[in-house]
Amino acid sequence: MMDLTGKNAVVTGSSRGIGKAVALKLASLGANVAVVYAGNKEKADETVKELEALGVKAICYCCDVSSAEQTKQLASQVIADFGGIDILVNNAGIVKDGLILSMKEEDFDKVISVNLKGAFNMTKAVYQHLMKKRRGRIINISSIVGLNGNAGQANYAAAKAGIIGLTKSAAKELAARNVTVNAIAPGFIETEMTDAIPERAREAALAAIPMKRPGQGEDVANAVAFLASDEAAYITGEIIKVDGGMAI
Ligand code: NAP
Repeated sequence: MMDLTGKNAVVTGSSRGIGKAVALKLASLGANVAVVYAGNKEKADETVKELEALGVKAICYCCDVSSAEQTKQLASQVIADFGGIDILVNNAGIVKDGLILSMKEEDFDKVISVNLKGAFNMTKAVYQHLMKKRRGRIINISSIVGLNGNAGQANYAAAKAGIIGLTKSAAKELAARNVTVNAIAPGFIETEMTDAIPERAREAALAAIPMKRPGQGEDVANAVAFLASDEAAYITGEIIKVDGGMAI
């Protein structure tokens, strides 16, 4: 039985969507959770209440993960509040879609900066702490778009492919200290991010899923929980697709 009692998890982007489902799943297994959000305090407060109802400690923190300074401060604050960090889930992400020809430079930079540099900043912020503890888990949320590419998402696909390189490099750097680093590549998961996709593109995406249904945040959360558990102690540098077969 997976058990995370007493473990402290930091989940970026857990005010809503996949991150919230991850926070709730980890808490249901006993983990305390630091809820990181970008601006949506109301939603973050709601997540904290739902986590507390599961009997764990939960605090929310406003932090823009694209800022190295803010992530550094966040890590120190969480360590002070919770007494340490055992699990980091780099889930925060945004989209700014468009074909390459019309994609603005600032939209390319912004997506790379939140989705890829954000995960790097957070990893760096907890790096020494986890090295010293000689145990830990880092789980990065990539995407099947990072594996296969997607027309209209060059910035997002590049960031998500970058996450895979970051994951494998960090896995090699931290393995000797018993810190595992893995990634999940979700397919089409129903959240506010996918709600924003135009109907025709949405239908095409759904038609491409062999399991004939969109995924839910919980589908991703279950895989994160496994990677965070003691049962996954010998798995590192791995990318697990959670996509109903979409990228087969
Ligand atoms: P979502 O519903 O749009 O939620 C995004 C979350 O990220 C929110 O909690 C948001 O906080 C936070 N966030 C955004 N920018 C941030 C920043 N600069 N610093 C800190 N937090 C920030 O997205 P989702 O669908 O749950 O996606 C979560 C992750 O899964 C993303 O990395 C996404 O790329 C990935 N993914 C999603 C799908 C899918 O089908 N949905 C598929 C593959 C991969 P606020 O609430 O404060 O804005």
